Amino acid sequence: MNPQSKHIYRFGGNVIEGNGSMREILGGKGAGLAEMSALGVPVPAGFTISTDVCRHYLEHGALPRGLNEELADAILWLEETSGRRFNDPANPLMVSVRSGAPISMPGMMDTILNVGLNRACVTGLAARSGSERFALDCLCRLMQMLGTVVLEVPKHDFDKAMKAARAAQGGDEGATLSVESLTSIAMAFEKIVEEATQQPFPSEPQLQVNMAVLAVFDSWQSDRARCYRALNDIPEEMGTAVTLQSMVFGNRGETSGTGVGFTRNPSTGEPTLFGEFLTNAQGEDIVAGVRTPWPISELAEIMPKLHEELREVVMRLERHYRDVQDFEFTFEEGKLFLLQTRSAKRSALAAVRNAVEMAEEGLISRREAIERVKPSSLNEILAPQLDLSAAPRELTRGLAASPGAAAGRIALSSEMAVKMVQDGSPVMLVTEETSAEDIHGMAVCSGFLTGRGGATSHAAVVARGMGKCCVTGAKEIAIDHASRTAVIGGESFKEGSWLTVDGSTGLVYAGRLPVSSAAGSNAYLNRLLALAAEESDCVVRANADTPEDARISRSLSAAGIGLCRTEHMFFSPERLVHMRSMILASNTEERTAALERLLPMQQADFEEIFRQMSPLAVTIRLLDPPLHEFLPSIEEIDAELLHARRDENWDAAIVWATMRERLKELTESNPMMGHRGCRLSLTYPEILEMQVRAVLQAACKVAGEGFDPKPEIMVPLVASEQEMRVLAAMIRKTAAELLEEVGQTPQYTLGTMIELPRAAVCAASIAKHVDFVSFGTNDLTQMTFGFSRDDARSYIDSYIEQGILAADPFLTIDQEGVGQLMQMAIKAVRAVNLRIKIGVCGEHAGDPESIRFFTRIGVDYVSCSPSRLPVAQLAVAQSNIANRSARLAQVSAALTNAQEEASQPIALAS
Ligand code: PEP
Ligand code: MG
Repeated sequence: MNPQSKHIYRFGGNVIEGNGSMREILGGKGAGLAEMSALGVPVPAGFTISTDVCRHYLEHGALPRGLNEELADAILWLEETSGRRFNDPANPLMVSVRSGAPISMPGMMDTILNVGLNRACVTGLAARSGSERFALDCLCRLMQMLGTVVLEVPKHDFDKAMKAARAAQGGDEGATLSVESLTSIAMAFEKIVEEATQQPFPSEPQLQVNMAVLAVFDSWQSDRARCYRALNDIPEEMGTAVTLQSMVFGNRGETSGTGVGFTRNPSTGEPTLFGEFLTNAQGEDIVAGVRTPWPISELAEIMPKLHEELREVVMRLERHYRDVQDFEFTFEEGKLFLLQTRSAKRSALAAVRNAVEMAEEGLISRREAIERVKPSSLNEILAPQLDLSAAPRELTRGLAASPGAAAGRIALSSEMAVKMVQDGSPVMLVTEETSAEDIHGMAVCSGFLTGRGGATSHAAVVARGMGKCCVTGAKEIAIDHASRTAVIGGESFKEGSWLTVDGSTGLVYAGRLPVSSAAGSNAYLNRLLALAAEESDCVVRANADTPEDARISRSLSAAGIGLCRTEHMFFSPERLVHMRSMILASNTEERTAALERLLPMQQADFEEIFRQMSPLAVTIRLLDPPLHEFLPSIEEIDAELLHARRDENWDAAIVWATMRERLKELTESNPMMGHRGCRLSLTYPEILEMQVRAVLQAACKVAGEGFDPKPEIMVPLVASEQEMRVLAAMIRKTAAELLEEVGQTPQYTLGTMIELPRAAVCAASIAKHVDFVSFGTNDLTQMTFGFSRDDARSYIDSYIEQGILAADPFLTIDQEGVGQLMQMAIKAVRAVNLRIKIGVCGEHAGDPESIRFFTRIGVDYVSCSPSRLPVAQLAVAQSNIANRSARLAQVSAALTNAQEEASQPIALAS
């Protein structure tokens, strides 16, 4: 036969026409069955009608020419192979008709069993099987399936008749139906079909087959199948194959049965056979849940030989496919048949354990182990999860800004959060937005919910840094501070009421829901990450602001600290007071005096961070936020001023009045584009000097204790070479003065952030003055798009809905714009300094898709929040492996080209 016109592929028996690589044509099920039969696994013989036929049918509304003859041939072959015949009352052939798309669509399309049976054959089947009950049961099942799926008779009509017969028989729900009951059910079913279709039940096997095949093709177009395809990006035009297989019966008495299983536990990954089975049952009995199945381990007790055979077969399949298998089986009078096998869906915990153990068993390579786990799925292991079994009420949905879940009592301000935590209950901070000033409140809360802000808003960044759950930009939140009430999704909550937030989905729930604690550190995950580390050229550092963050980062194998935001060290009450005096100072002397009081505090933090990280690098960023962030809000100042005046406390009144004046001076229309970053160091050089001294003195001190500190001083928000030149000179001068004073300065390196488009464009000239550059992709995204990172949520959502943006650019790097700036800058920077170190420390550094891009454009390190380290470490290793394979493919393509060119005959000049 012309292979072009071949539509049917046989398997089982003496012929195998397909194989496992033919999913596109045979669907997953058909390809799997062909492969299994080639492996000698016992499968019932059958054949698969290819997906081409489905596509032809959907396009033309008819089956392709020649198919009927091919089908008749295949049925003849199946009759010979099975030794049974359609319509043979003495020994009837019956088949299952199942769908099977190239990409699995579980439960979305139709299946019909026992096709070929009719009243005339029931008697023969009963005689052969020795069970009239079994034969009638098969007929009733066929009538119901064909009736509902093909003839579109309402299912509840059949259910009603079945219920009535059960009631007439008496006894409980699960009791076996008697022969009399089944006979009356079959008669009732016939009547139901006849009444609904005005036709007798189709008893001709060939007609049943044709109807069932077309019904499966039609089910490709059902609403549920279309919806599933849309959700899972499965192409409409793919089509489904249909597999017809000689029936084997699990409902033929107590030595027959059916079951489903996994070669390893899909929840825990434990390498033992897992699953369940029922005796005297067909496949749907397990799914329908009328009878409770038994664990597969019990099969070993009641039928040890069969259990052993099953174990041997499925482990063979696991070795063959080199992956955990999810299989279906049936046994008929003690004889085992496999009906299906496929790669098992599994929890993240199981995926990690399977990958590690299969690599250790030598079943897969270490690289494959790394590639088999989706980095973002690790959040399932690392973050606490909500128990949603009680179907709780959702109040609203915001942006899933930091994974994990928490329940807590609502606090509407950081001050209140601190007070409430002292009473011993967990607290959920609910605010319009947060700022650096909220850091002490945030430190004590279990989670945060904000009405404004996106993926790189303050709340989101801090939450990730602290490893706490956070939902930002939940638009349906209004806070009334006067009545201490939050309205969330239209419902009012008094401060102190319970609220639950899921930072992995962005959903907010009323009340206190149970939260499972995170598996946290997991021995298998550590083993996987150790394999990942061996494959990583690009390293993963942590964004850590405190000694505690540094300790956690070290324990998670961070390769250093890539960003220490020093402003976070100034917010505890004993430090804030000096910070405020520094801001309120009216001259340089007063400012220097305040800074001198801050220096030992900051130095102490640096010392501890250096001890924790020795001998790894620690990048310390000089002060970045605008100074007004360290002052109270105008409302708070006004309230204090009123108090002071009422109490006639004139000293205090003067301080608050001065603070009010200063706040007004410092308030800017666009603070993110204002007096911040390196602009602070250039206008108040005392701040830079204090911070550089604190860094270098701390390094000297811990070096004296035998540690090996590696400070890297980083300047934020540089826009030009001129700025960088002056700043570098200031830092070097401070270091030189220190050398003169104490006779030593530690080794340190000097770098800048690239977070302004101008800095990216002028990166070559800026790079001449530094040892390293680090892309601040949060600000770089903000400044390149001109989207405020704190307020852009509403229109970004609408842009995504309209397809203007594919993703939130604050979560996943915009390769086309921001990415191009980065690429351009990297090229320019490397041209002036080949040894320069290049990193990324914006939030994108914890996002797997962005990481793939960063490793491709050649950054040396990415630096992310400690809680995102495992995800980033795995993503970096996968990206490095993929990049290496792509390079290899390029080289080999170039070699082939060169060889081809060399083998061309040389044209002689005419
Ligand atoms: C950035 O802008 O990407 C960055 C890391 O700095 P911050 O988020 O502190 O502005
Ligand atoms: Mg920044």
